[in-house]
Amino acid sequence: MFTTESAIDIAATPERVWALWADVPGWPRWNAGVARAALHGPFASGSAFDMQLPDGGPLLHSTLIDVVPNERFTDETAFEGVVVRVTYRTEVEGPGAAEIGAGVSGDFPDVLAVLKRVAEASAMEVACRCGAARLLIDGTPVAQLYCHCDDCRAAHDAAYVAASIHPAGAVRVVQGDLVARVVQTTPRMACATCGTHLFSELADMGLRSVNGFRLPPGRFAPQFHIQCQHAVLPVRDDLPHYQAFPAAFGGSDACVTW
Ligand SMILES: [Zn+2]
Ligand SMILES: [Zn+2]
Repeated sequence: MFTTESAIDIAATPERVWALWADVPGWPRWNAGVARAALHGPFASGSAFDMQLPDGGPLLHSTLIDVVPNERFTDETAFEGVVVRVTYRTEVEGPGAAEIGAGVSGDFPDVLAVLKRVAEASAMEVACRCGAARLLIDGTPVAQLYCHCDDCRAAHDAAYVAASIHPAGAVRVVQGDLVARVVQTTPRMACATCGTHLFSELADMGLRSVNGFRLPPGRFAPQFHIQCQHAVLPVRDDLPHYQAFPAAFGGSDACVTW
């Protein structure tokens, strides 16, 4: 049996890396050793997929085994009389194992390097003002907006707040201690050292509302204002100013006059 192992640190959540893995037709984006791949069925144990290698040759028929979402998966391919399994490590069994195994795994460090680049491309880091607390956020926001609600105003003693709304699982605290403050209902998470607000927990919606003013330059692009019925300081810009919420978020789309 031939066995080898490669590892790399990726600054993205397991969910982000998993999304790349589970997108089988997208494998060529990060794996130069795959020209084309097609999955038959869900990304789950027992599903079959086909792979075409860049050097031509026969279509390879593979099977997913040991699929544990956000953690690991193994694919198994019968290949020139031997069985190749790829997880965090590769095991090759059968005659000629060492030779084929070395050939199959030779590009693993390159593959992982590209996987890292792709996974980190859309990740963004948000830090508090003192640098003690950091968030890592994957993927694209559900919405970016200004909120004028009385809860936000009271919690921050501000006329309105900037919010970048993300699926809760896409927002990860990677450094520092946070403290929660609740003024009305929403827990507001701030750096325990400097008090910078980092995100609000919208638990019943499975969302986290990240402080839009702390996003890296160019990453906060507000689409509209919400809860303008509570506004104390009208903000006159070209964005829609919803009385409460847009229809897409359970509101009526009704706007205020400013
Ligand atoms: Zn609000
Ligand atoms: Zn801080």
